[in-house]
Amino acid sequence: MERLWAPWRLRYVEGAVRHRGCIFCEKPAAGDDVGELILLRGQRAYVIMNLFPYNTGHVMAVPFAHVADLAELERETISELFELATWSTVAARRVLRCDGFNIGLNLGDVAGAGISDHLHVHIVPRWQGDANFMPILANTMVIPELIPVTYAKLRAEFEVSSFGRKDAPSVPQAGAVVWLPDEGKVAVRRTRDGAIVLPKGHIEPGEAAYRAALREVAEEMGLRGEVIGWGGVLEFVAGGTPRRVVYLLVQAQPGPDFTQHLGHDTLLLEPSEAIAALTHEDARRLAADALRRIGVPVGSVP
Ligand SMILES: [Zn+2]
Repeated sequence: MERLWAPWRLRYVEGAVRHRGCIFCEKPAAGDDVGELILLRGQRAYVIMNLFPYNTGHVMAVPFAHVADLAELERETISELFELATWSTVAARRVLRCDGFNIGLNLGDVAGAGISDHLHVHIVPRWQGDANFMPILANTMVIPELIPVTYAKLRAEFEVSSFGRKDAPSVPQAGAVVWLPDEGKVAVRRTRDGAIVLPKGHIEPGEAAYRAALREVAEEMGLRGEVIGWGGVLEFVAGGTPRRVVYLLVQAQPGPDFTQHLGHDTLLLEPSEAIAALTHEDARRLAADALRRIGVPVGSVP
């Protein structure tokens, strides 16, 4: 195997040495899973993005228990830890279309563990030829996608899947909070019965949730979008069926069909107006939170 040389990880190791507490204990306790880039919480372990990745989509499965060695973990925790690692590969394959993975633990300083007293399983996606564009000589990080973007796409996948959830709906949906930076406006949808909603729709079999969200934005609004962050999850009952919809924060610009939608089924509004216009309170809160995370002023949510 070609060695992945990742000099930027030195910053991580140095930072960990200076850090007095344990980040793998502190992050899940911080109460801000989006800010801390936590993707999924199990009963005994969780999945978190690596801030100093070897490659795009590098995540870690971490037990909540602060232990250094596998032998210190209870059997159920070991089982869940590797279940989470497995789900991470499923989500990453669908979202990132990677060709393979390096999965492993570095136990002990001698093995190269950055944080040796709280074990963690690395899951590193690999693509054909990816070692070629890794920064072998330059001391710069070449990651094709921003970490919050990858986080949002992977989080959406975890949220719509049945990973560890007995109550997962059979037909999850994906939608978007749509921000047009050039106009400084938010696009919302007006339904036939006059409700103002966020665009959303069904996820095709095998389709990544984020791609479904972008497809809906294109089809329903005539906008070309790209994911820039996480939106949130809304759960509700429609027509007697429980629904679970994941929302991505999408940055968009008008496509060729946009004029057919504008003023009809699509409205472009100032951020605070768009939020106030949304019919459902939980959608207002979700949209406001998503926009605030990228620094768009939204005022108070009605
Ligand atoms: Zn710890």
